[in-house]
Amino acid sequence: MTARVLDGTAVAAQIRAEVAPAVAAFTARVGRPPGLGLVLVGDDPASGIYVRGKLRSAGEAGLRADVERMPESTTLEQLLGVVDRLNRSEAHDGILVQSPLPASMGPDAERTVFDVIRPDKDVDGFHPVNVGRLVQNRAALVACTPLGVMELLVRSNIRIAGARAVVIGRSDIVGKPMALLLLHRDATVTICHSKTAELPRIAAEADILVAAIGRPGFVTREFVKPGGTVIDVGTTPVRDRETVTRLYGPGSRRLEVFDRRGSVVLGDVHPEVANIAGALSPVPGGVGPLTIALLLRNTLTAAQIRAGLVA
Ligand code: NAP
Repeated sequence: MTARVLDGTAVAAQIRAEVAPAVAAFTARVGRPPGLGLVLVGDDPASGIYVRGKLRSAGEAGLRADVERMPESTTLEQLLGVVDRLNRSEAHDGILVQSPLPASMGPDAERTVFDVIRPDKDVDGFHPVNVGRLVQNRAALVACTPLGVMELLVRSNIRIAGARAVVIGRSDIVGKPMALLLLHRDATVTICHSKTAELPRIAAEADILVAAIGRPGFVTREFVKPGGTVIDVGTTPVRDRETVTRLYGPGSRRLEVFDRRGSVVLGDVHPEVANIAGALSPVPGGVGPLTIALLLRNTLTAAQIRAGLVA
């Protein structure tokens, strides 16, 4: 069997095509576009690429998007000052502080920052108020990546209600909100992590298996129920040729890309799973493009709520 590919790029394009006219309608009615304030601290190259992608997509959708670039030496207090300004800005409906923050800010810096972003501007859905609302199934703003996975499943007509779902990974930004969203859609959900016993056996019971681990090729065929749906959230930049060769084999397209670029981004799901799963979201082209599309939609939602246009 070769798994049906769940095309995140196409679903993301659909969502962006829905957001753009709604943004235009908001702008016409309120007299300004929905605004997104991005903050980028330091010079991590991957973060720079993500922020540029978010700026470009926001502009294409008709949103206003500004980025505040701060040097690596920025202190937590200085960063909190910028967040405070964005919290009070009338022009900004959404605030996103790009992770990771410089290590010099301390281990709790991200949590401290997420805690001070106004909940109604928290387009990442990381504020405890929004997380609490998600637990109660009444959140307006939910973390973009798990929300993107739900859109991919629903728009690909994957049955969720009554399905057995297994989420590998329990982070606050992917694993936990993912499990809650599946639960609210009436799946029966198990969350697994690094201490889970008999992980392959539990995973192989899943009609829907979501891998959000950050370990390339970790999910091999014995983790997968034949015909099941597998969602690969993992995105790990790999710079050693041996790993790519071991997973994809000599002469593979992935190895060609590696040889051209010197690195490649790999998912958590082993390529052999395509022969066992019924449907599979690939890396790249699966969940990644959806994250940005849902950020745009969250910004629109935040703007509509702030303007009193929706409850
Ligand atoms: P994270 O905070 O590092 O969490 C990883 C989770 O995986 C943890 O819960 C950890 O368990 C679990 N884990 C690690 N090793 C394991 C093992 N051997 N067996 C079972 N579970 C194991 O990572 P994250 O932020 O959730 O991200 C996960 C992956 O998704 C990463 O590759 C990240 O780059 C990717 N991601 C992609 C997007 C996108 O837009 N496509 C967005 C966000 C994240 P413990 O809790 O026990 O340590």
